Amino acid sequence: MKRTAILLTIILFALLELSEANDRIFVNIGTGGLTGVYYPAGGAISRMINRKSKVYGIKLHPESTDGSVYNINAVLNGDLELGLAQSDRQYQAYHGLAEWSQIGPRKELRSLFSIHPESITLVATETSEVKKVIDLIGKRVSIGNPGSGQMQNSKDVLAASGVSLEAIEAKQVMPIKAPELLKEGEIDAFFYTVGHPNSNIKEATTGCTKVNIIPITGPGIDALLQKHSYYSRTVIPADLYFSYGAKEDIETIGVKATLVASSKLDDNIVYVITKEVFDNLERFKTLHPALALLTRENMLQGLSAPIHQGALKYYKEAGLVKYINPDLIK
Ligand code: GLU
Repeated sequence: MKRTAILLTIILFALLELSEANDRIFVNIGTGGLTGVYYPAGGAISRMINRKSKVYGIKLHPESTDGSVYNINAVLNGDLELGLAQSDRQYQAYHGLAEWSQIGPRKELRSLFSIHPESITLVATETSEVKKVIDLIGKRVSIGNPGSGQMQNSKDVLAASGVSLEAIEAKQVMPIKAPELLKEGEIDAFFYTVGHPNSNIKEATTGCTKVNIIPITGPGIDALLQKHSYYSRTVIPADLYFSYGAKEDIETIGVKATLVASSKLDDNIVYVITKEVFDNLERFKTLHPALALLTRENMLQGLSAPIHQGALKYYKEAGLVKYINPDLIK
């Protein structure tokens, strides 16, 4: 009798769970590799919403992907609801440049907000004797995987520094693999456009193989900054990578991570996500060290696709429209 009662209770709970799960809308966020910042940042956004999942009837799920270009295409194709993407890639997709030059401007792309800054990070082994970008000539260099944001950044930095792609032995390695290949001597250097700190660069800078983070500076880079306003100067604080032992911050250039969707994504879903993150920003900032410096104001900078209507509804209510470029309000 007792066993039957327990069994019935278990079945009842399972049915309740099932009916609750059926009531919920599942929203997938495309992120990046497991060792980057997109994946935990997507996890942080998900946690903000999922703790109130019953109230909102929405459940977010971060998905590991190839990165920015994959995510933008996936939200536009309807394979994903939300995606994280570099601000430069958001600009290029919306204006039909780079990977989108054949297909043309993706006018249905929408932005929600931006998150952490990302730096173009070049890591090279000490034995490669790479001190500047130009020293990459003749070396085995991972420029990033197809579908990633960083691949175009690597190409831009190389070209701006006078290094043609033919002058290096270019490899297309997934970020998760790059530190291991570097330490095993399979590659001499890799590029990764990523927020700091992250476990990828931590892994690369610890262990027996001595590596350096290489500055990305010089007249060619100055010209690149002039040409593309989505690039800005930034530094990688040396003390983030403790065991690496660098004394000085590393000068480089960077972009911003942003959250994008298609204009077709339901306004209410976007409204709820935007509201939860902005209303609980102090909590959100504690979920990953790369998010620590976010403010309501800087989260509305670096966007180039129009603001999604659901997010705009929240920004109007919260009095934040003054921080948004008026061209993005449609
Ligand atoms: N910026 C990279 C990309 O768009 C992803 C970095 C990360 O996963 O944090 O491909």
